[in-house]
Amino acid sequence: MGGRESTMVLLDSEGRRCDGRRVDEPRRIMIKAGGLKNADGSAYIEFGDNKIIAGVFGPREVHPKHLSDTDTGILRVRYHMAPFSVGERKNPAPSRREIEISKVIKEALEPAVMLEQFPRTVVDVFLEVIQADGGTRCAALSAASVALADAGIPMRDMVAACAAGKVADTIILDVNNEEDQAGQADMPIGYMPGLEKITLLQLDGVLTPDEYKRCVRVGIDGCKIVYDLQKKALAEKYFGGQQ
Ligand code: ADP
Repeated sequence: MGGRESTMVLLDSEGRRCDGRRVDEPRRIMIKAGGLKNADGSAYIEFGDNKIIAGVFGPREVHPKHLSDTDTGILRVRYHMAPFSVGERKNPAPSRREIEISKVIKEALEPAVMLEQFPRTVVDVFLEVIQADGGTRCAALSAASVALADAGIPMRDMVAACAAGKVADTIILDVNNEEDQAGQADMPIGYMPGLEKITLLQLDGVLTPDEYKRCVRVGIDGCKIVYDLQKKALAEKYFGGQQ
């Protein structure tokens, strides 16, 4: 969120956004389950121009050992942006932003994963952003859920994620990078549609109470679209497309 009003037209007189989408239209989403032969589970997602690979390892022994918990398994998440994933080379060392995103994705996944079934172990989730264009935390979280399911980790539900936001005083679904930079608000949401529970909700920008409620509703609608594609990706791999 740039917090600044841009001269760019974010919404034209016909209600079209800067990339031609309608206000309630998500970007093109493609999800594939599997793909990494060395991982226990994996997934690949394209969410508009975002391209992200998720790899899951475990449940496995915890190193260092003192981090293990005798009552439950633990989840570790590393979100990382490749140096070539954005226009200007990104320093490959973990930034504050990547550490924050790793933490919020971990906390968004924890309610879904039945870690209590695997005491003393760790499940590691690696998220590699190879191309970024706004909304990578939602795309990465959605891919992580599919990779966990692909690894056969028992889950209460999958977490599907999508952002809603506000540009030109209008609530929109699925905020792209330009809208994030020049728009008025960005609200990433992670949601378990089967359980009707939100596991991630952040807000960058300012909304009225009514806009806030509408953003949550619109974001959840987006999560439901992602959820269908997550299930389709798993069905494709395991049942040849039959759900
Ligand atoms: P999200 O990707 O979840 O929307 P942010 O709002 O922090 O997270 O970032 C928005 C977008 O800004 C990213 O998707 C990416 O396209 C861009 N971006 C993030 N970090 C950098 C960076 N170091 N250099 C260039 N662009 C970046």
